[in-house]
Amino acid sequence: DLILFWHRRDLRIADNTGLAAARERTRKVVGLFCLDPNILERDDIAAVRVSYLIGSLAALQKRYESVGSQLLILHGNPTQAIPALADTLKAHSVFWNWDVEPYSHERDTKIIGALKEKGIGFIEKNWDQILHTPEEISTGSKAPYTVYSPFWKNWSSKPKAQPVATLSDAEGLTEAELEIARIAGVKELPSATDLGFVWDGGMSIEPGEVAALERLEEFAYNAINSYKEDRNFPSINGTSRLSAALKFGVIGVRTVWKTTLDAMENSRSEETEISIRTWQQEIAWREFYQHAMYHFPELAEGAFRETFKNFPWQTNEKYYQAWCEGKTGYPIVDAAMRQMNELGWMHNRCRMIVASFFTKDLLLDPRLGEKYFMQRLIDGDLSANNGGWQWSASSGMDPKPVRIFNPASQAQKFDAEAEYIREWVPELRSVDTEYLVTGKITPLERDALGYPQPIVDHNKQQRIFKEIYQRQKGAIP
Ligand code: FAD
Repeated sequence: DLILFWHRRDLRIADNTGLAAARERTRKVVGLFCLDPNILERDDIAAVRVSYLIGSLAALQKRYESVGSQLLILHGNPTQAIPALADTLKAHSVFWNWDVEPYSHERDTKIIGALKEKGIGFIEKNWDQILHTPEEISTGSKAPYTVYSPFWKNWSSKPKAQPVATLSDAEGLTEAELEIARIAGVKELPSATDLGFVWDGGMSIEPGEVAALERLEEFAYNAINSYKEDRNFPSINGTSRLSAALKFGVIGVRTVWKTTLDAMENSRSEETEISIRTWQQEIAWREFYQHAMYHFPELAEGAFRETFKNFPWQTNEKYYQAWCEGKTGYPIVDAAMRQMNELGWMHNRCRMIVASFFTKDLLLDPRLGEKYFMQRLIDGDLSANNGGWQWSASSGMDPKPVRIFNPASQAQKFDAEAEYIREWVPELRSVDTEYLVTGKITPLERDALGYPQPIVDHNKQQRIFKEIYQRQKGAIP
């Protein structure tokens, strides 16, 4: 009996709950990935992300071959293409892992309907990408958490599952069946360029399961031990850079968790333990936002807090463009935006700085900034990105009402030697550190270096934002 295993955000054969469940039922497990135009043709797609996706699929194909099976590639609307292929191949079932995003719910519901009609089996709501399901973690009154700290308290107190078995032997399609699959639409894996995405940018995050596992090991051996301190400084390579692997499920979250427990066990000081704990808390932030998206899909559309639902954000194309291009005249903001434009990745501290600047200084609608991030990030992910933007805009679930980052104090604290600024804003390399971090570069010098004047005045904008905020707050009964 053939089971088709449909990969979505779980591009690996190790520690994959749905895939392991499929293998338990039959030896004939064949992988499937569907290049979905509903995703690939959206206007918030990033070339760097597609590039990573295709690379990881190529690696996954090799993994399947190494265990005796195949990964089939479809290109088309999955709600039709998948049931049709399963029918043609006379598959017993199609298995997949569940996802929190609204689009995924809509799509899966349709597919389930089509499979039922054809009498093909499936497993419903099999969770894989998170350590606890959204139903598992709730408040005393059985409601979803809307604040992180109590969520973390509950979430971290619960025992976590061990990694599940890697697919180690399977049976693929026969040559004759492969021929039928090809006629039914199965194609060669295209390159990102074939799909119209050209990415020749900077950061090399090697795609694929093996590379992600290596990265995890290296991080758990070294940087995790000083994560608490180092993670704040964008000029230090102090974070795991596993976000793309986690986003696409190129690495299993149970494996990640187990690695942190092992690191904890080997830890020799309280300091390293605190660091490991801090990293675990980031893994929990990821889940917090995924649970939030699952329970409150309206987050994807806009503000969570009433005060921000009809907030009079301004429209200013000039500000928006300057921010996107890293030409705001605020060195730390510009360094960060240029890092993202060039690498497809931005340091977390800087994501907070530029998102605060976008909303509190430029007074622009966070949804626009959120979208630009999606168009540029290798790890662009609806739940995490939306969570980060709502946190920065103060429109989300965060209990602190308004948080405004001062770019100068952020730079003074977290890029005190201006190493990060100098790396990403080369025209400012010769300027004294003091002026770089405070941003107090004279108009004359800016002109001479070809660096823009500040597009807004932080203090003034901050006052305007607060006034609007108070007005909005007052307007709500
Ligand atoms: P590490 O510091 O090593 O953290 C480990 C993992 O924990 C990350 O890979 C990620 O999966 C998770 N994580 C860490 N911080 C957060 C967080 N605040 N929220 C959710 N998960 C987290 N992360 C994304 O994965 N995709 C996004 O699209 C995204 N957009 C963001 C937008 C804004 C405005 C902000 C403030 C944050 C955003 N983040 C996003 C969270 C965070 O910046 C990145 O996960 C992190 O910088 C990735 O680098 P890393 O893998 O080295 O992280």
